[in-house]
Parts: sequence; structure tokens; C-alpha cells
Amino acid sequence: THTKPDGDAVGSLLALHLALENTGKKVFSYTDTPPDTYRFLPGFEKLKNADEFETPGKNIVIILDSSNIDRCPVSNLENTEQIINIDHHLDNSGFGNINYIDSSASSTGILIYRLLTEMRLTITPDVAENLYTAIITDTGRFSFSNTDPETFCVIAELVKAGASPQKLTEHIYKNYSLKNARIFGKVLSSLEEHGNGRILTIELSYDTVQQMEIGEHETEGMMEYIQGIDGQEVSLFFKEFAKNVTRVSLRSRGRIDVQQVAEKHNGGGHKFAAGCTIEHTVAEAKSLLIKEISTALHRGE
Ligand code: 5GP
Ligand code: MN
Repeated sequence: THTKPDGDAVGSLLALHLALENTGKKVFSYTDTPPDTYRFLPGFEKLKNADEFETPGKNIVIILDSSNIDRCPVSNLENTEQIINIDHHLDNSGFGNINYIDSSASSTGILIYRLLTEMRLTITPDVAENLYTAIITDTGRFSFSNTDPETFCVIAELVKAGASPQKLTEHIYKNYSLKNARIFGKVLSSLEEHGNGRILTIELSYDTVQQMEIGEHETEGMMEYIQGIDGQEVSLFFKEFAKNVTRVSLRSRGRIDVQQVAEKHNGGGHKFAAGCTIEHTVAEAKSLLIKEISTALHRGE
């Protein structure tokens, strides 16, 4: 699954892994180091590091939740018999020999659920917990515009199959540390408004990242808070985890297509939630993107 795996990536991967294993298949799953948040997921200990990836003999590689092959952290895919690409991103390049892409699905978890039921595989409680996690995280706790009737129908089936909303919510959302709260405070104090409050930005400079020893997964949930501020069109989060390399998260309230903005910088994602990496400092990346989004906002008037 894709680099810097999120809940949908890890949950979909483990659900598919466990379900295939239950049919007697030999399955190996590879990822970048996943966030500790997901350590509770059934099967988590089965995940291997992407560096260990090898493809001995005949095998099929299934790549999940990745728009393109470069988003996938494993190399040496040359000896692979077949690549199956399962994803719900708008900008998926169709890189597989078999492609199952549906950008109307709220998460890759939904696609895995469809496949498992189509294959008449039992949704065990372990599989259900992984899929529930995939879906709740990619829909922002069932609140983003991708949250459709199918999401709730599948969630109902997963709860029937043994996924506990209360237990899973505790694991996913009520598990942050004191350090997380302090990072939150630091990030919140960086809040700026641009274009009469229509663009909001928050940031973490390289110096702060070093000073507070902030890991890439320790900034989750902050974007959601900022997005709740009334009157904005777009919110941006700039994170300089490596010197002069700024990761940007873009979120739109619905008027601006931020995927198009991200794509210009070799990023991508969804219409209203996208990301990209800009090889500049936070300050430079910020002025660049504010300019581009201001132009898009003016065009929309
Ligand atoms: P986030 O801001 O949470 O990192 O990412 C938001 C969305 O954009 C996610 O769906 C993520 O998969 C996608 N995304 C983030 N960064 C990139 C990128 O560099 N390239 C592509 N194609 N998609 C990205
Ligand atoms: Mn996803």
C-alpha cells in the first residue's frame, strides 16, 4: 500500500491479508512503517517492512489505495507475474494488469468489502475491525462528502460481523499523548488567514520539527480542527520534516478543486482533500500555494 500509510491503507491491507489467508493462500503484506495508532489492528504483527519486499517465483502483487506506482514503497516489481491495482483515488493511473478503480467509493476499504462479499468469503470479526477502521478514517468519521449510503450499509454489516464502534473509536481517536497535545498547541498558534479568511494556513517549520522531535504521524487530526473554522474555502498545512522539503496537505470546503492544485506540484488525491511535496521551505511553499489558490478563488467568482 502507499507510502506513509493511513487508516484506509493499513486497514484495507490487513483485511485483505486475513481474508485471503483464511482461504489458505500464502500472503505477505508490505508497508512503510505504519503509525502506532494502528498497532491494535488484528494482524498488525504480520506487516513486513517495504524494504524486505521480494518476489520469489510466480506471484501476484496487489497494490492498494495508491494512485500510481511511485506512491508504492516497494521497488523491484519486475519479476511480478501480475499487478492488481485496487484504489478509489480520482487520479489513479491504471498501472495494474488488472485495475479495480472506483473513485466514487469512499475508501479502498469499501472496495475490499465488495470483493470479499463477491467472493463469498466470511467477514470474520478481525476482518470487520480492519475494514471498519479503513472506512471510518477515510470518511473523517463518516463526515466527508464521500460518505454515501453504501458507506453506512457496509458499516452496518461490519458491526454485525463483530466490529465495535465504541472500541474502535477509542483506539483510533482517543489515544493521543501529552506530546501530541503540545504539538497541537504549537501548530494551532501558527494559524494565519489569507484572502480575507478564505484561505487558512497552519505550519510546522523544520526547526520546530527538530526541537520537539516531531514524527510524521504526530500531526494527525489537526487539519480536521482547522477545517471547522467558518468562512474559509481552503485550508493548508505545511510540514517541513526534512530541510527545504515541505509536505502540504490541502483541504477544500467544496468550491476549489485542490487535487488540481496538488497535481501541479506532482501530488494528487481527491477533489477536496489532496497532498503534495514542495522542495522549498515552509515560507516559500506557503507563498507559492497561497498565490495559486487566490487565483483559483478569483477565477471562481
Ligand atoms: P494528506 O493531506 O492526508 O496527506 O493527503 C490527502 C489525500 O491526498 C489522500 O487521499 C492522499 O492519498 C492524497 N495524497 C497526499 N499526498 C499525495 C501525493 O504526493 N501524491 C498523490 N497522488 N496523492 C497524494
Ligand atoms: Mn483511501
